[in-house]
Amino acid sequence: MLGNNLYLLTWNIPCRWVFFCDTKHRFRKKKTDCGMKRFLKRIVSVDSVLLCLLVAVYTGKMQSGEVLFPVMQTEDARQRDIQKKKIALTFDDGPNADYTGILLEELKKRDVQATFFLLGKQAESEPDIVRQIKKDGHNIGNHSYEHVNLQNLSDEAAIEQVNKTNEVIYEITGEYPIFIRPPFGSWKSNLDYETDMIEVLWDIDPLDWNTHNADAVANRVIDKVEDNDIILLHDASKSSVEAAVKIVDELQKDGYEFVTVEELLFE
Ligand SMILES: [Zn+2]
Repeated sequence: MLGNNLYLLTWNIPCRWVFFCDTKHRFRKKKTDCGMKRFLKRIVSVDSVLLCLLVAVYTGKMQSGEVLFPVMQTEDARQRDIQKKKIALTFDDGPNADYTGILLEELKKRDVQATFFLLGKQAESEPDIVRQIKKDGHNIGNHSYEHVNLQNLSDEAAIEQVNKTNEVIYEITGEYPIFIRPPFGSWKSNLDYETDMIEVLWDIDPLDWNTHNADAVANRVIDKVEDNDIILLHDASKSSVEAAVKIVDELQKDGYEFVTVEELLFE
């Protein structure tokens, strides 16, 4: 704050000089005579008042224990900013009998909240995993019943995919999902009204389904990630789970907090 004001004050002087000269030149319509002495007198008389005010204000701040120089605050402020950074991990296509349970254990160890966009058909076959997802405090969203491209369906058929999945999830958890991640990111805007679902896409897609290289997947996320990003992953392979764990471990060190989509969007 003081640094900013001193900066302004420093620039104020040459600016005043230019203004002083220019004003005289324009209004008197004769050769510029800036009169260094007169100029300095004006600077001293006006700016000394400003300077006294600043000193008075900042002396008060110093006495009240506030940090004086913003340069010295930078590191603290940076740490505070880092602590505020939030991201949401999302996992599509589950629940998966082989991998979702392992992922849940790893997330629990690291106190991470995530969002699972479930397929209705999968949820029907793995209700215990769905219950565990809910019990661990994660968000549960809808990913259609059979992983179909909803844009290729009639409205009636698309709505059925959504509603059928919502009913399956409600039967298991006692709660209807409010978010939908349409398969392939393919949604029809009129379905917002027909289904009352909120569409959630993503900011980073590391294409985890396309490789078994967990490090490559993790690095694609770590290199690009920014505050408030939504990351798309799938709890459908060993490498995806390993990548998720690496992403969490690396980004927690950087001060990121992992939150659900609901928290990221609404809080
Ligand atoms: Zn999917």
